[in-house]
Amino acid sequence: DIKKVNESYFCSYSSFGIHREMISDKARTDAYKQAILENSSLLRGGVVMDVGCGTGILSLFAAKAGASRVIAVEASEKMAAVATQIAKDNGLWRNGPQSEGNDRSTSIIEVVQGMVEEVGKSIQIQPHSIDVLVSEWMGYCLLYETMLSSVLFARDQWLKPGGAILPDTASMFVAGFGKGGTSLPFWEDVYGFNMSCVGRELVQDAAKIPIVDVVDDHDLVTNAAVLKSFDMATMKPEEVDFTASVELEPKSVCSTSNSMELKSMTTWCYGVVLWFETGFTSRFCKEKPVVLSTSPYTPKTHWSQTIFTFREPIAIASGNSNPNGSAAVGTDASPAKRIHLRISIARATEHRSIDISLETSGY
Ligand code: SAH
Repeated sequence: DIKKVNESYFCSYSSFGIHREMISDKARTDAYKQAILENSSLLRGGVVMDVGCGTGILSLFAAKAGASRVIAVEASEKMAAVATQIAKDNGLWRNGPQSEGNDRSTSIIEVVQGMVEEVGKSIQIQPHSIDVLVSEWMGYCLLYETMLSSVLFARDQWLKPGGAILPDTASMFVAGFGKGGTSLPFWEDVYGFNMSCVGRELVQDAAKIPIVDVVDDHDLVTNAAVLKSFDMATMKPEEVDFTASVELEPKSVCSTSNSMELKSMTTWCYGVVLWFETGFTSRFCKEKPVVLSTSPYTPKTHWSQTIFTFREPIAIASGNSNPNGSAAVGTDASPAKRIHLRISIARATEHRSIDISLETSGY
């Protein structure tokens, strides 16, 4: 049941290891640090809410940037206690509402324990009076664990009209990967022995469930396409579930000859890799917009990428391929010019997981 799912979810965030992993993810933590500290005109003097504060790292940045009050909400009892201790140890803790005459220029954090959906009574603040909402809510494949819904709840409950939300955009991307993105090459030559039966079995298994792992950008065989973009300032909570279609085209391969003509070459596309970017755009971060990318083209993050392997690879060709009319498109005899991909993502009922369905066709 949903209560148990939540319990085990928040329990997983009670272990320090996971917080260390997130804080050590430099691309992640630096993006938030920059967005908060280098846009201090946005934060200075403002009331900030940090949804899911964990250790309180984002609240500490906000306090440092000059926020007048930081409300740090955390569901895990253990982490709420830890965040309180950390705020105290750094001279930034406040217990209860600030009294008249207190020095407003001191930035102070108050930690509220509970799910943001349920803490209404414990937060001594009027609805729609938060200036800046900050949260690190992204999961694997962006939406795994679907904490975005909680952030949107907080937005609708607490954020001022026109208030800032950090980050304010999120986009999901997909691209096709070739054999190099599978386990096949490794098992084909093990100290000179052919163990490719293992590789083939692994590829078959991979077609059953997405895998979180890093993909090398050299192993991508198609362009990257935007699957879905979210605007966190304006999106409706139900938009978290969506269906989107994209067309993937083979990466063009330049021949090595001097003519630089596009060479027609068949490659096999074994599946697609999905990643996301979040933007702290100039809409709110006017001084210093920031992008946090988890793509194969940028340094690796703890999210890696999410790999979806096809049941059967699809043959694709760039340039002037000569399709054999009778053969099925996407086979060696008749490579596809394009892969059409349709992906639906929906929150799974009663779970924190997501259901993903993926259909492909080459044509
Ligand atoms: N902000 C921290 C932690 C991010 S991890 C950092 O950047 O390092 C997300 C945190 O949000 C976890 O600690 C989790 O327990 C908490 N959380 C998730 N959903 C929540 C909800 N609905 N209400 C309150 N806290 C939540």
